[in-house]
Amino acid sequence: MAITSLAPEHRQLLADHFGGDLTGPEDSRYDELRRCHNGMIDKKPALLAACRGTADVARGVQFATDEGLEIAVRGGGHSIAGLSLSEGGIVVDLSLMRGVDVDPNARLARVQGGALWSDVNREAHAHGLAVTGGAISTTGVGGYTLGGGLGWLMGTCGLATDNLVEAEVVLADGEIVRASAESHADLFWALRGGGGNFGVVTSFVFALHPIAEVVGGLVAHPIDAAGDLLRFYREFTAHASDDLTVFGALVHAPDGSGLPLAAFVLCHAGQRDVAQREVQPLLEWGEPVMTEVGPMPYPVMNTLLDDGYPRGALNYWKSTFVRGVDDALIDTMVDCFASCPTPMGALLLEPFHGAVTRVDPEATAVPHRDPSYNLLIPTVWTDPADTDANVAWTRETFAATEPFRADGRWLNYYSEDEPDEALRAAYGRNGPRLAEIKRQYDPANVFHVNHNILPAALPT
Ligand SMILES: Cc1cc2nc3c(=O)[nH]c(=O)nc-3n(C[C@H](O)[C@H](O)[C@H](O)COP(=O)(O)OP(=O)(O)OC[C@H]3O[C@@H](n4cnc5c(N)ncnc54)[C@H](O)[C@@H]3O)c2cc1C
Repeated sequence: MAITSLAPEHRQLLADHFGGDLTGPEDSRYDELRRCHNGMIDKKPALLAACRGTADVARGVQFATDEGLEIAVRGGGHSIAGLSLSEGGIVVDLSLMRGVDVDPNARLARVQGGALWSDVNREAHAHGLAVTGGAISTTGVGGYTLGGGLGWLMGTCGLATDNLVEAEVVLADGEIVRASAESHADLFWALRGGGGNFGVVTSFVFALHPIAEVVGGLVAHPIDAAGDLLRFYREFTAHASDDLTVFGALVHAPDGSGLPLAAFVLCHAGQRDVAQREVQPLLEWGEPVMTEVGPMPYPVMNTLLDDGYPRGALNYWKSTFVRGVDDALIDTMVDCFASCPTPMGALLLEPFHGAVTRVDPEATAVPHRDPSYNLLIPTVWTDPADTDANVAWTRETFAATEPFRADGRWLNYYSEDEPDEALRAAYGRNGPRLAEIKRQYDPANVFHVNHNILPAALPT
């Protein structure tokens, strides 16, 4: 397919009033800069507009609408669906906007829209503070927070979006507003779970928590123990304290051997003595082949799984909330994992518990507040020749979970090919209100390269 590029005089129109970097197909760094985390994505924008600040973002949005160009917004570029790029359009790229400013007295962090969680962790930790970020540190703050944001600290602190206290947003008409509980409260509600539908968030203000150290790590067992391990996991996590988040995992050994393993991956955000006491049953269960658990700074905990998800690897993911972890689901997980075609493949159970579940389902746009488990199939591989086998296995495994599914699905994990029902499952009961707010703030659906909410029709 021919690569669309902007005529020089059009590009100059933007360049004249833009402080950042512009890169088009004619520029040498184009192929490097248009890549995102998921190597499956190969979109070719007409222009990448890397912004240095809010004024650049507003200018980029206005230029794109004036020129009739599709807009994609890039935060960390991590979405599996490749939603940070537009084919033939303009990318409002926030990757130069990664500043984090912590006010330790107020326990607040102002975070620019293109920051990664590693940026936030580093700055917050310097003051002994932290907030829920992704399970790995390379995820972008932007898309992750707007999609809800689950992670290691969610039992203690809630979702990332539950900790958002203000956002600066460039709207579809280029206007710059601050959204909070006091100002543009409807927009603020929609930003907390409604994805990138409502504007470009140039900065987020998060409440921080006094968490410097956690007890965390991995306890791995031979795959033959998988059924018993997941049954123990079910009983154990049903009574775990808010501070203890444990993923039940079927994984492959991180040492390159590809050995399949059953594991607890855990993080306890409480006091060290309490943490050590509460994680002890996980260390004592069965006969582990590897136990790597101990006290560590939270930013280190947040990097433990990073190597398993390298930038540029090929990804195809599916996930669903499940109605408990019953024996038949465990059998299905164990059976499916036995035919996993990639040594980078896994099945993970992520528990929703504690602070996440004490938020009213309509208080933010994230409706998933029942104590439950999210089952994630994050399939990763590196050789394009293996793509068909990995996509087919992920789909078959997801299909096999059908009898066990609860109603909801986690927006942030969607791949490119999700059907309309998937959006209904993600936005749930909050879908109609999100559509009303979309009509108010973006009636022409300028921001549609996202898990798109169509503006509600005008009342007749
Ligand atoms: C390895 C890996 C691990 C992950 N772990 C977790 C996890 O633990 N928990 C979880 O909840 N999710 C997780 N995710 C999913 C992740 O949250 C989403 O992919 C999320 O979209 C990433 O945000 P981003 O800014 O990097 O994405 P991008 O690809 O840059 O953007 C995704 C969407 O958000 C929009 N967007 C991004 N930034 C902004 C902004 N500042 N203003 C407006 N719109 C914006 C984009 O336009 C696009 O529609 C993981 C993904 C990967 C690949």
